[in-house]
Amino acid sequence: MPSIFSKIINREIPAYIVAEDESFLAFLDINPLTVGHTLVIPKKEVDYFFDVDADSLAAMMVFSKNVAAAIKKTTNCERVGMAVLGFEVPHAHLHLVPMNGMNDINFANPKLKLSKEEFAEVANKLSILLIK
Ligand code: AMP
Repeated sequence: MPSIFSKIINREIPAYIVAEDESFLAFLDINPLTVGHTLVIPKKEVDYFFDVDADSLAAMMVFSKNVAAAIKKTTNCERVGMAVLGFEVPHAHLHLVPMNGMNDINFANPKLKLSKEEFAEVANKLSILLIK
């Protein structure tokens, strides 16, 4: 069974995609901690993040660096934080979270409820910077 994230890669289910190349995809987390909270995934489906092969992990960091720069510019946050959890979706992913303080990346916080329009607005601003 393909993961829900593979279904996003294959455009079988919708997502607010902000960046893509041949190996990676970035899209907005549907339950964001802060506005602009983005997930980066490898297109190759691997459950555990640290089981992703070393070259792909390194390339994923470079891909994420560009996404983080766009998040910082778009949201005006102080820093973009990064986290690996993976308790919910068995497809390796990085969380990129815009932060203005340490508590912004506390995953025990209640998640934001954004409208479709709010998601679309952030995704549009990010993708303008990231999708050539
Ligand atoms: P975790 O596996 O614990 O790192 O959490 C998975 C993350 O994926 C959660 O923050 C979810 O809100 C997010 N998520 C799950 N399904 C989707 C989806 N279809 N589109 C965007 N984000 C999702």
